[in-house]
Amino acid sequence: MQDSIRALREEIIRIGDFLIKKDLTIGSSGNISVKIGSKDLILITPSGIPFEIMRPEDIVVVNLEGKIIEGDKNPSTELPMHLKIYKEREDISAIIHAHTIYAGALAVTHTPIPAILDEMILYLGGEISVAEYAPPGTEELARNAVKALGKKKAVILANHGVVACGKNLKDALEVLLRVERAAKIYILARIIGEPRKLPKEAIEHELEIYKLLLEE
Ligand SMILES: [Zn+2]
Repeated sequence: MQDSIRALREEIIRIGDFLIKKDLTIGSSGNISVKIGSKDLILITPSGIPFEIMRPEDIVVVNLEGKIIEGDKNPSTELPMHLKIYKEREDISAIIHAHTIYAGALAVTHTPIPAILDEMILYLGGEISVAEYAPPGTEELARNAVKALGKKKAVILANHGVVACGKNLKDALEVLLRVERAAKIYILARIIGEPRKLPKEAIEHELEIYKLLLEE
């Protein structure tokens, strides 16, 4: 158990480094969490420590009520959002929140990404909505994020950033990369023409596959 927690702490640090190196977030903006053990506990990145200097031992263990179980740092200020998503979605065991550039451009214009790519349906669960604005770290933001997330794996937070969810950290990172890629394609497509949505039948068929993959 301790070995696996240690491995998860190190995986979170590796993902944080990756986010910084790939310009998917900056400094201490963004946060990462994962469920551990009996799944009543989560590991979450600390508040205010830049990813560049974050150490595995800085990552905090909290329970699903947000009580600190282990660690001498404060958990991320977005803890309420992480907890609410875990409470509402049994299928989600890892969450990455980042301040990416292309999804960020959509966040500040309150522009959802319509269902324009097959991979969006298969890996993200459909179009990506924009959660109504609420100040960072608030219960209101947590509620708005969960509402706009629905049964999908990602949501854009208005004037803020993006939240990617998965069944493990690897899955959540892939979701984040696919959202950012879809955001980039959508923005480029709007420059050269009118993006066309996938046919309704394709969306319905691919949603069936997405639901099966969720239950796995
Ligand atoms: Zn943020």
